[in-house]
Amino acid sequence: MVLLDGKKTSNAIKDEIASQVSSLVASGEKKPHLAAVIVGNDGASLTYVASKVKACERVGFESTLVKLPETISEKELLHTILQLNTNPKIDGYIVQLPLPKHIDEQNILLAIDPKKDVDGFHPVNVGRMALDLPTFLPATPYGIMELLERYDVETSGKNVLVIGRSHIVGRPMSILMSQKRKSGNATVTIAHSHTKQLSTLTKTADIIVAALGIPEFLTGDMVKNDVTIIDVGITRVADNTKPKGYYITGDVHFDSVSKKASYITPVPGGVGPMTIAMLLKNTLLARNRHAN
Ligand code: NAD
Repeated sequence: MVLLDGKKTSNAIKDEIASQVSSLVASGEKKPHLAAVIVGNDGASLTYVASKVKACERVGFESTLVKLPETISEKELLHTILQLNTNPKIDGYIVQLPLPKHIDEQNILLAIDPKKDVDGFHPVNVGRMALDLPTFLPATPYGIMELLERYDVETSGKNVLVIGRSHIVGRPMSILMSQKRKSGNATVTIAHSHTKQLSTLTKTADIIVAALGIPEFLTGDMVKNDVTIIDVGITRVADNTKPKGYYITGDVHFDSVSKKASYITPVPGGVGPMTIAMLLKNTLLARNRHAN
């Protein structure tokens, strides 16, 4: 069994990005600048945003954290978005999801300038991805594609099962892996909450991407030997014996599934760090596009 080490791979990607930033700085050019908008005080969201800002420092990017109160109105948030769209210093930005319930997420995502949409969530960028045109790929699926590529996992002609059809993970993952591209050319099935007899599908899949958000859902008895497992899930499970009062686990029961897998991502240390590295990659791309 080979562990698909997202931490190690993401560090290698960050080193590559850092060396490109050093070259830009050496030639007197502008560093990439990422902004992150966070609304409210959700613990997990604050942690994610903090790690994105920290990653910017690590590779030499400028970063701006825009922290807004939970009570902000949709109109006020749209005003912030407009400012970010027109600020020439900002190459790309993200709006950390989920947003408070009184704000329409779609309205916010639609207001982001597609040229600065380094999360790749704007319909223009989703459309470009679906048509296999140059774009910002959404960071989590992009990270998974990169991980598969760097570990030389064969995907061509393989039966891939993506569990989950969210706009940010499952759906784009299914599109990318079915495309004619590296880590693509697969025969993809997408499963969701209405799928019947899921275990019939899991047992025949060569590669499973689990992105449903149910801790340790996929167990060893549900998979075949030599399967490749990509565990996207990140859930905080309450546990008073842990210093933080919780532990983090994925959608895969690692102990039983890893015994049968040929490749598997751990949680933490798998898809999560790759997501951050690809966000940085998209920001560098945004900066280079703005400069040209
Ligand atoms: P989501 O809640 O938007 O979507 C979950 C999907 O799972 C839905 O499409 C639903 O139909 C499907 N589903 C639910 N129950 C199912 C079942 N019993 N059988 C089959 N399908 C079922 O979730 P999301 O935003 O895609 O996130 C999924 C998980 O991935 C979460 O744990 C989230 O925290 C994690 N996540 C991790 C990263 C990362 O960087 N590692 C990024 C995004 C999301």
